[in-house]
Amino acid sequence: MTHSHGTLYIVSAPSGAGKTSLVKALIEQVDEVRVSVSHTTRPMRPGEVDGVNYHFVDHAQFRQMIDQQAFLEHAEVFGNYYGTARSSVEQSLAKGHDTILEIDWQGAQQVRRVLPQARSIFILPPSREALRERLNNRGQDSNGVIEQRMAQATDEMSHYHEYDFVVINDEFSIALQDLKAIVRSGHLASQRQQAQLQQLLDALLSD
Ligand code: GDP
Ligand code: ADP
Ligand code: 5GP
Repeated sequence: MTHSHGTLYIVSAPSGAGKTSLVKALIEQVDEVRVSVSHTTRPMRPGEVDGVNYHFVDHAQFRQMIDQQAFLEHAEVFGNYYGTARSSVEQSLAKGHDTILEIDWQGAQQVRRVLPQARSIFILPPSREALRERLNNRGQDSNGVIEQRMAQATDEMSHYHEYDFVVINDEFSIALQDLKAIVRSGHLASQRQQAQLQQLLDALLSD
């Protein structure tokens, strides 16, 4: 993973802040950005597709992957297990794709320990009321699950300062522009430029 060319991005947010919608719009509009598909033991929501939204697995399969050290990171969130397979992230980065992990703060801490060069983004809702409204409007979780996610939101949001960037998802299009600016700045980072513009730099720096 150390010789990869793509940049690894970590995106976290309290459930309902708009992380999945923003990342989906980002990958549709920016080439070379991919999103990592996590493994989870949570039940599939209506409309979700195995292998697209998540790899849906049972506890035994998840446990087996932990034992095989197949996860780059894994965590228990809202009573279910979620994890990022190491191999698919390594392959994506090696192909030169910027790769996004949509993971919680516990997973983010684990990834930073292994890959400190990862760039992390925290997405905040404009208010608690807006967060509750979005969870309700999404219409995919029971009232009990929504209450549990609201209760967990404070805990998740208290970790915002561990992230390199904070984006507020009030107006969707502005938050999307902010995400694009972060990815664009990654492309302009001198380390990336050195690798991609070697010929130009050689010419400019020769007497
Ligand atoms: P949503 O984010 O509200 O749509 O709900 P999800 O069920 O998709 O995700 C639940 C929680 O699990 C969120 O906090 C995610 O950030 C987290 N999560 C999802 N995938 C992963 C993963 O691969 N690893 C870790 N550590 N957390 C994950
Ligand atoms: P997350 O993945 O963070 O849980 P989602 O992307 O599923 O969040 O978004 C939660 C709900 O809020 C969805 O119904 C989505 O369409 C809606 N939503 C996302 N961003 C905005 C926004 N800026 N304004 C209003 N609604 C939004
Ligand atoms: P949901 O169940 O609504 O799809 O996701 C709930 C939370 O799980 C989200 O906040 C999401 O960030 C987190 N999550 C999803 N996949 C992963 C993962 O692979 N690892 C970790 N650590 N968290 C994840």
